[in-house]
Amino acid sequence: LATTAKSAEFFSIGTGGPTGVYFQVGNAICKMVAMIQSADHGRKSGTDKAYRCSAPSTGGSTYNIGQIMEGELQFGVAQSDWQYHAYNGTKPDKVKPFKGLRAVFSAHPEPFQILVGKKSKIKDWDSMKGKKVNIGNPGSGQRGTFEVLMEAHGVDTSYFSAASELGSSEQSGALCDGKIDAYGYTVGVPNAGVSQATDGCGASIINLNTDAVKKLVADKPFYEWKTIPKGTYKTSKKDIKTFAVMATVVTSADVSEDVVYAVVKAVFENLDDFKGQHAAFANLDPKKMIKYGLSAPLHPGAVKYYKEKGLM
Ligand code: GLU
Repeated sequence: LATTAKSAEFFSIGTGGPTGVYFQVGNAICKMVAMIQSADHGRKSGTDKAYRCSAPSTGGSTYNIGQIMEGELQFGVAQSDWQYHAYNGTKPDKVKPFKGLRAVFSAHPEPFQILVGKKSKIKDWDSMKGKKVNIGNPGSGQRGTFEVLMEAHGVDTSYFSAASELGSSEQSGALCDGKIDAYGYTVGVPNAGVSQATDGCGASIINLNTDAVKKLVADKPFYEWKTIPKGTYKTSKKDIKTFAVMATVVTSADVSEDVVYAVVKAVFENLDDFKGQHAAFANLDPKKMIKYGLSAPLHPGAVKYYKEKGLM
């Protein structure tokens, strides 16, 4: 019974809005950490620490990175573009430069999606001029990426008649109610929030393949083209072409090797379970997860596991 006196170590994974995919990623990880702990119980007790994991809803990517830097969160989910900019200090006005940022693995692709209301008459980027547009809450990945998109097109929020800052769980309701004409969201496919607007009130996702977007994809290592296949939502009658980033799990160099090792072990040893938790995770491939979309160095606790498993 002496072995039950293990000290519990708590850690948190920052996610995104409650209707997003990050929230599912974070909570799936915590579930796997709990599973592996109970599987180990009795065998390794006394040597293993007991980990307690929580994955609260947060403002999103850049909020998570900032909180990891402050030591308030130990892990977070973040878009690959914001991981890159935080580590390299290349967009200090949007995400604080953070050399201590470490990559853990990447998860699902996240196409940047502009959702437009049924009666908005918006069909492409140019027809967004003068419309009421939700550019996303500060701290979210889509907010920063939307700003990059505006800069790339040589405009700012004055291009729209109104620019709101609603969070991801409020924007579909606002679109359906006609309070806004469009919103931008970087999120895995499919997503419940997006289907609330598409299947729910006839909103659709526009193609984003302007010359400015082509230049972004050509110039930046963290952007790629993505097709949202026709039939994904009721209103996606044709394939939709837009640019995408990756959802990645990040941590700090200050987080212990043991904790990061425990997290990657839990995820990689339960990968089939993870894939089954959400359609956006269906194509997860361990070889890609340890490399793709990662620009900060891998945390040593992750490297230790990947080497043991022959992935590196
Ligand atoms: N990509 C969004 C962000 O960085 C979050 C998407 C989600 O919640 O799944 O804030």
